[in-house]
Amino acid sequence: MKFETLLIHGVTEDKGTGAVNVPIYQTSTYKQAGIGDNKGYEYSRSKNPTREALETQIAKMEEGLRGFAFASGMAAISAVLMLFKSGDRILLSEDIYGGTFRVIDQVFSRFNLKYDVFDPGDPESLQQKIDPDVKAVLIESPTNPTMVITDIAAVAKIAGDNGIITIVDNTFMTPYLQKPLLLGADIVIHSATKYLGGHSDLIAGLAVVNKEELGDRLYFIQKSTGGILGPVDSFQVLKGIKTLAVRMDRHLENAARVAGYLRDSNAVDKIYYPGFPEHPGHGIQKKQAEGFGAVIAFTLKPGYDIDKFVRGLQIIALGESLGGVESLMTHPATMSHGSMPRELRQRLGITDGLVRLSVGIESAQDLIDDLQHALECASIH
Ligand SMILES: *Cc1c(COP(=O)(O)O)cnc(C)c1O
Repeated sequence: MKFETLLIHGVTEDKGTGAVNVPIYQTSTYKQAGIGDNKGYEYSRSKNPTREALETQIAKMEEGLRGFAFASGMAAISAVLMLFKSGDRILLSEDIYGGTFRVIDQVFSRFNLKYDVFDPGDPESLQQKIDPDVKAVLIESPTNPTMVITDIAAVAKIAGDNGIITIVDNTFMTPYLQKPLLLGADIVIHSATKYLGGHSDLIAGLAVVNKEELGDRLYFIQKSTGGILGPVDSFQVLKGIKTLAVRMDRHLENAARVAGYLRDSNAVDKIYYPGFPEHPGHGIQKKQAEGFGAVIAFTLKPGYDIDKFVRGLQIIALGESLGGVESLMTHPATMSHGSMPRELRQRLGITDGLVRLSVGIESAQDLIDDLQHALECASIH
């Protein structure tokens, strides 16, 4: 079955009624015939048929063994972090998602889970940070917001050779474009809030593993700590997934056009988009993924005011998040990366003048016209 078909038919119709969609099993519990005699469902924190369908579907999409659905991307990430214990150390891409950095730096650190950062553009720098306490490496590719490409296979190889596990946050790519487990990763994480849900109408997180032992441990954490996704949201994510391929195709096409426009504009200074041949990660991206994604970050030249620019947008909304059908602009320094130390932000290029655009599936021409108009508003000459 090809991926596009899997998106529609990965989880089959309801056995009882033939309904073509997985029903929303809005129930906390299940009637049991006798002691220990049940139909495989006992209590919805441990298992719910709607959530189970989504978990099966994401596992198939990532070509993994077992999937798990959580109340948010951060709940998925937190559950994965609970696989480790006090004294363990995790190595992070230095420009990891701000919320991931925050939960490790300010929450898990209180339980003595340690971390260090490495340059994801240089997998060799990872080797130098490995010592017996290091138990995992956590990466994203592309990174957010400066679109650094990590060679996932190279990182997974170094990690594997040292007996440590590789965790990849695949939110920006989705399994339509990139399958980290096939590149050697052990765990894939998603904020399904983004492209998988796809409509900016829910918060959800997913995790997929390809080893039984990791699956058993993560399942134990999921049911013990309880950060599960509810049945209605599970249904909504399944619905979003059905159109993933067609949405992503349009996202990619629009992003390439918008990136080209921005590159040609004399108001734009730096631009971060892995689809440009001169992007340092372009070659690796072509090798490990099926497209360049639809997120573009850029800065404006001196003489343009960033606040006037975002206020001048009429179609593209200023707001947190990405991956929805509608285009969204964010200001990473005050939004997604607000809790990252300023000094680290500066070093990574997350300056106060940087904006990030999640290109939606509207008319590309309308988006370009909107940017053009906002750039005219931003000129302070
Ligand atoms: C949004 C996001 C998260 C967090 O997910 P939530 O669903 O907001 O909790 C994690 N990683 C990446 C890359 C994200 O974009």
